[in-house]
Amino acid sequence: MTEIIDGNAVAESVRGDVAAAVDELEAAGVTPRLATVLMSTDPASETYVSMKQNDCEEVGIATADAELDPEAPAEELYDTIEELNADDDVDGVLVQMPTPDHVDSGRVLRSLDPEKDVDGLHPENIGRLVAGETRYKPCTPHGVQVLLEEAGVDPEGKEAVVVGRSRLVGKPMANLLIQKAEGGNATTTVCHSRTADLAARTREADILVAAAGVPGMIDASMVKDGAVVVDVGINQVDVSEQGSEGSQTKSDEADNEKGYELVGDVDFESVRETASAITPVPGGVGPMTRAMLLYNTVTAASLRSGVDVSL
Ligand code: NDP
Repeated sequence: MTEIIDGNAVAESVRGDVAAAVDELEAAGVTPRLATVLMSTDPASETYVSMKQNDCEEVGIATADAELDPEAPAEELYDTIEELNADDDVDGVLVQMPTPDHVDSGRVLRSLDPEKDVDGLHPENIGRLVAGETRYKPCTPHGVQVLLEEAGVDPEGKEAVVVGRSRLVGKPMANLLIQKAEGGNATTTVCHSRTADLAARTREADILVAAAGVPGMIDASMVKDGAVVVDVGINQVDVSEQGSEGSQTKSDEADNEKGYELVGDVDFESVRETASAITPVPGGVGPMTRAMLLYNTVTAASLRSGVDVSL
């Protein structure tokens, strides 16, 4: 019987741990605070930022909110980051991506104080991850690692295949899986758009992580019997494109009202017949990404204040 890994339930448990850690910090006179920076009027970006702020409030993390006109000069964004870096009351700074085209997104990431980089994407933090001296694990790969752990899947000695090599997901995911540490020790292959015979690679996987951003690209023929399949993809698909047979993954009523639904990179209905465990979209990796941001923010507050918490 295939296990459907419930990201909402695991995320709820992580939020509970984070809330307890916030209480420990508060007891020591420390209020953790996340600053969000939004330079966009894209509805999806606005929604993500407000969800992150709500998540913080639910666990007792204070927020600060900077909104910049997307037409403003890039310097305004760099200056805002400098101000937040210098603000002692702010523990974590999150700049919602994507930023406008005239902004150098690499410079944005480099400008963050690495100690406040709760997305874990500053070159120093990526370097620390690769070196095995991790400060913050990037939220999505960290969420995947916790999901695997909670599902009782130990990557040690297994063949792991990651489809995607982005700075945000694929590269840090592969690096977590190869670390000589708990939740790592897998033999890991990274695939991308230039991989010759992708299916031959994915069929080798005991653990397959799909993070390509291509709706339904992983079907049952690409998955080994009994594999654990983690679907990171979140893709908006026009409902009319799905046909009368229904979607490849779970649909969401609210999204259908908007004329689209969210689907993963995995053809859920066919792959669930083959996999031993699989994450759904929505309700798999997505809620974990949000929960791990809270985790990193509390970790930042703990590191900056010197108050240990039991996370
Ligand atoms: P990017 O577009 O930055 O990277 C996609 C990667 O997939 C690239 O490395 C690309 O290869 C590779 N790729 C694209 N098409 C193929 C293909 N046909 N075959 C093999 N490899 C391919 O995306 P992200 O990493 O930022 O995000 C990936 C997906 O995960 C998206 O759907 C995104 O929405 C979702 N996401 C979900 C999150 C969550 O919380 N669940 C969080 C973040 C992202 P190449 O490098 O050669 O171009």
